[in-house]
Amino acid sequence: MSMRELVVLGTASQTPTRRRNHNGYVLRWDDEVILFDPGEGSQRQLLHTTVTATDLTRICVTHFHGDHCLGLPGTIQRLSLDRVPHPVAVHFPASGAEYFARLRHASAFHETAELAVEPIHADGQRIPLRCGTLEARRLHHPIETYGYRLVEPDGVRMLPARLTAYGITGPAVGELSRLGHLDVDGRRVTRDEVSEPRPGQRFALVMDTGLCDGVYALAEAADLLVIEATFLNSEAALAAEVGHLTAAQAARVATESGVRRLVLTHFSQRYADPTRFVDEAREHFTGDLVVAEDLATVPVPPRR
Ligand SMILES: [Zn+2]
Repeated sequence: MSMRELVVLGTASQTPTRRRNHNGYVLRWDDEVILFDPGEGSQRQLLHTTVTATDLTRICVTHFHGDHCLGLPGTIQRLSLDRVPHPVAVHFPASGAEYFARLRHASAFHETAELAVEPIHADGQRIPLRCGTLEARRLHHPIETYGYRLVEPDGVRMLPARLTAYGITGPAVGELSRLGHLDVDGRRVTRDEVSEPRPGQRFALVMDTGLCDGVYALAEAADLLVIEATFLNSEAALAAEVGHLTAAQAARVATESGVRRLVLTHFSQRYADPTRFVDEAREHFTGDLVVAEDLATVPVPPRR
C-alpha cells in the first residue's frame, strides 16, 4: 500500500506566532510529494519532518500573499544545494508570474535544480499526473487565488472469492483485469463478474477564500480536505470582508460536500486556544475532524 498523508509544516495565517509557523503543507501521494504554499520558515520546518527537499516533486502556490509564498526562495535554493536530480514542477496563478520570478531569484545562488514551471491560467485547469489529476479551481480572495484538488480515477477491486470460484489464479487475474474478460473452460468471464467498483481517492486544499463555487467544487467527496479557517464565527463579518472562512463555514462545506476527514488550519493569531475551533466546527460536522498543529502528520483515510 502506497503512502498517502499530509504533513503540516505550519498553521499560522498572516504572521507566525511562538507556537505556529507560517502556513505550509506537504502531501505525500504515491510517487508525488507536493509542497503547498510554503510560508516563511518552511525549509526549516521540513527538517523536523521525514520529508527532504529531494523528496519534493511539485510545488503548488495558491496565491502570492506572504504567508503562502515567502518560503519559496529558501526552498528553491535548497533544491539546487541538494542537487535534486529530478525536475520539480511548480504551479501558481499566472498573474503572479512576476512575484514568482522575484522569489525564485531573490538572492544569488548556483542554480542546478530544474524547475518545470507551469502556471495556472484558468479556472478548472487540469494537470495529468501518474496517480490521478491535479485540478485548480478559482477561489474568492482579494488577489487571484486557486485551490487545488487531486483526484484519483475510479477503478475496480478484484474479489478473491469470485476469482477462486471461476478457477482464475496467477497471471490470468492480470489478464482478465487488463482485457476486461477471460475465457475459462469455454465460458467467458467478465471483469464485472469478479470485481466491484473501487472509488478513487480525493484530496483537496482550499486556501484563502470567502465562500464561493470553487470551494464546493474542490471539497466535493474529498477523502481529506485541508481548508482555511482563519476566523471563528464571532468574526464572520470581518471574514467575509477580507475573503476568508470561519470554522463554522468550513465545517458546513465539509458536511455538504461529503468530506471524510476535515483538517482546519491557517488560524488568525488572535485565537490562542485551538479548542475553540474544535468546538465551533463540531456543531456543523460530525465526521473525522483535525485542528491542525505544526508538524502533525494526517493520513488520508483508508479506502472505503
Ligand atoms: Zn493566507
